[in-house]
Amino acid sequence: MLIVMRKSATDEQIDRVLEVAKSQGLTPVPIPGAQRTAVGLTGNQGAIDPRPFQELEGVRECIRVSRPYKLVSRETKPDDTAVTVHKTKIGGGDLGLIAGPCGVESAEQALTIARHVRKAGATLFRGGLYKPRTSPYSFQGMQEQGLGIIEDIKAETDLGIVTEVIDRSSLDAVLPVVDMVQVGARNMQNFRLLRAVGQCGKPVLLKRGMSATLEEFFMAAEYILSEGNYGVVLCERGVRTYLDHTRNTLDLAVIPAVKDLSHLPIIADPSHAAGIRSMVRPLALAAAAAGADGLMVEVHHEPDKALSDGPQSLLPEDFDKLARAAKAIHQTQQAQTA
Ligand code: PEP
Ligand code: MN
Repeated sequence: MLIVMRKSATDEQIDRVLEVAKSQGLTPVPIPGAQRTAVGLTGNQGAIDPRPFQELEGVRECIRVSRPYKLVSRETKPDDTAVTVHKTKIGGGDLGLIAGPCGVESAEQALTIARHVRKAGATLFRGGLYKPRTSPYSFQGMQEQGLGIIEDIKAETDLGIVTEVIDRSSLDAVLPVVDMVQVGARNMQNFRLLRAVGQCGKPVLLKRGMSATLEEFFMAAEYILSEGNYGVVLCERGVRTYLDHTRNTLDLAVIPAVKDLSHLPIIADPSHAAGIRSMVRPLALAAAAAGADGLMVEVHHEPDKALSDGPQSLLPEDFDKLARAAKAIHQTQQAQTA
């Protein structure tokens, strides 16, 4: 149920809606909106009786939300959400560029790459400290030992920092240092982790699970929003199909589908979708043309020596060319849809 307040509603009238909801055992979630104030009611098992709310002062209407994902739905919030990460707005009309290595491997490696991607126009640096690897024998990331490195990167380059968390302790470790926490494909349905990042006070980059339907993807985001965190950016990173000419299959159609059904921004990760360096550029440009709000791209200056995902990492000079082409396509796409 969505309680839409009148434009003239006072703070006291909104507080009264929250009180009545709580007295009924519901969880009210105030929804920031450009045009109106609304309160989403969650935590109900069955249908909510609208009558106690309809008669409150300042309430314009009570709308039943037909989708299972409530707070994520455009029914609940018609205007697009823009998420601010350090100095970058994702979903605000510009193309957000997040770039960096798959994993932070050393201070020298990470800083070299950070300087390159910043020069190429990225404003956010990615670099995993906690790597969820298929094999327990593969590089698991520098973990706590890399925290000082990403701090130094931020101090030197002023890039915002995005890094993956895989559990409660990695979340606690990175929180003081990072600007956005990433929940990876393998953890998209780790519901406790989703609740924890929902409470963490930082924006969240939520990657689509390898075989997740759009509804499952939205429900994962709903966990985060239901904890009061509206700073969620969705990320399409390819899904598993029967095809084996790429690592995954980039689902371009999910971009307009998300835009239709949700107010949340969506970016694309062509690197994990492709798995092959030469395919990263065409997929990235296609995602920009399809209306993605940003791109996350793996870059390495010595990809042959990378401890993870070298074969899909772009060389810095190729990222530079890609960034320019993607921005031009994004501008054309924006102009076409304006
Ligand atoms: C990553 O971004 O490095 C990563 C592990 O991605 P995904 O969770 O999409 O596989
Ligand atoms: Mn990777």
